[in-house]
Amino acid sequence: MITHDSPIFHWFDALFPRTCHICAAPLPPDVRCVCRKCRAELPRTNFHRVPDNAMERRFMGRFPFERATGFFFYSRESALSVLIQDFKYRRFPGVARELGRLVASELYTTPFFNGVDIILPVPLHWRKLIRRGYNQSHEIARGISEVTGIPVGDQLYALHHHRTQTSLSQQQRLLNTQGIFAVRHPEQISGKGVLIVDDVCTTGATVSSAAGAVAQAIGSGRLSILTLGVTF
Ligand SMILES: [Zn+2]
Repeated sequence: MITHDSPIFHWFDALFPRTCHICAAPLPPDVRCVCRKCRAELPRTNFHRVPDNAMERRFMGRFPFERATGFFFYSRESALSVLIQDFKYRRFPGVARELGRLVASELYTTPFFNGVDIILPVPLHWRKLIRRGYNQSHEIARGISEVTGIPVGDQLYALHHHRTQTSLSQQQRLLNTQGIFAVRHPEQISGKGVLIVDDVCTTGATVSSAAGAVAQAIGSGRLSILTLGVTF
């Protein structure tokens, strides 16, 4: 069995030193991607502790849901932004997975995952998936699944390719994301508790579009939302 004490790890660490993705400090063998100090300093929203929180108010009236939280405050200048760029554009899917584990281990001590039967990551259109090589939201979902034991499903998929959102207004973003997601094998998730997972929630347009498709498929089931970052 390969453990962190195995010679192969020492050899690998010597060739590719493992350093924190935020501050570049060397990492101890039992810490992945981000050092303990930088983890502690990432700004938590603690929305999951607040009923009717700011993220839930963002989605209110758009689709029926039970709980919604964005775990960290996100801005372009933040340390979280470095991590998000690393897993979105610099081919570090392991950073997304590790952040999924981090968020899940902190939420696991709260009722947040109660009644959740399946995790559905917001999908990428296949053309983008081929270009990037992985779906970062799926990696976050895998990290959450490792901690909680809740399975990740692939029933939610992207029908169309949507234009990049960065230059669009809120109204344009809503139009841009309408009808781009669909659910395959809806009978597999009908009546279940579903957690939709995405990387960052800015206007909420992408999550709303995905949630709309899932809400139809689960019927009387329960829907919750978790994103790694959220902007305000
Ligand atoms: Zn660090």
